[in-house]
Amino acid sequence: MKIADSHCHLGLFEKPLQVVENAKKHGIERFFSCATNLESMKKHLGLFAKEECVKTGLGLHPVDLLKLSEKEIGDSLAFLEENASKCHAIGEIGLDYKYAKTQKERDLQGKVFSTQVELAVKKKLPIAVHSRLAEQECLEILESLGAKKVLLHWFTYSKKSIPRAVENGFFMSCGPVIFSSKKDLEAALAIPQGLLLLETDCPVSFGGKQSDPTWVKMVANELSVHKKEPVEKIVQSAWKNYSRLFDNKP
Ligand SMILES: [Zn+2]
Repeated sequence: MKIADSHCHLGLFEKPLQVVENAKKHGIERFFSCATNLESMKKHLGLFAKEECVKTGLGLHPVDLLKLSEKEIGDSLAFLEENASKCHAIGEIGLDYKYAKTQKERDLQGKVFSTQVELAVKKKLPIAVHSRLAEQECLEILESLGAKKVLLHWFTYSKKSIPRAVENGFFMSCGPVIFSSKKDLEAALAIPQGLLLLETDCPVSFGGKQSDPTWVKMVANELSVHKKEPVEKIVQSAWKNYSRLFDNKP
């Protein structure tokens, strides 16, 4: 059974390559690991350049950018543009209205998100999208800029947003949050199989425990129980969707 973790932050582990090796022993063979700021972009390019199993995403995260000066944001975006041809996707990028409370901050997030979506569209790269309390605004920007290859990660959108995402052909990934949130589990169950991916967002902690890519198996098992479908079927279609998104496979 080939398993892919379609959204993680391997750069945040103390020993990222060891995490990859350990996960491989548990059947996790592909990883999409993404950066969130200039430092982690540099780290990703250095660490995983020779790791075929790791696809890398470069981008400036909406929460990270709130701590930066205008110049630092400019430098980060310039680095991204210069290095976009060395990565497999633009991300993790998006909008986060939990942290951007003022209109000024929200406008800034919107501007930086749009710039990065435009770059991804120009370079024909997939986009890994983070969205919190801003799902309609995120979808609007993606649609208006003609983004096609999109992964809405940590899918916690309301169920009513799913048809709009489906209409656009956007992929959606769900992770360990479905263990504890009934609302998010319900949304995950409503994602059509042809657009569903599995992720961990590791090393984020859940229930006081630090996650790692092997947790993607628990996510698949949880979905299997609630969907009443064999876990192999869920894992296989998620693998296929991962390849369609990141390898341009049909
Ligand atoms: Zn993430």
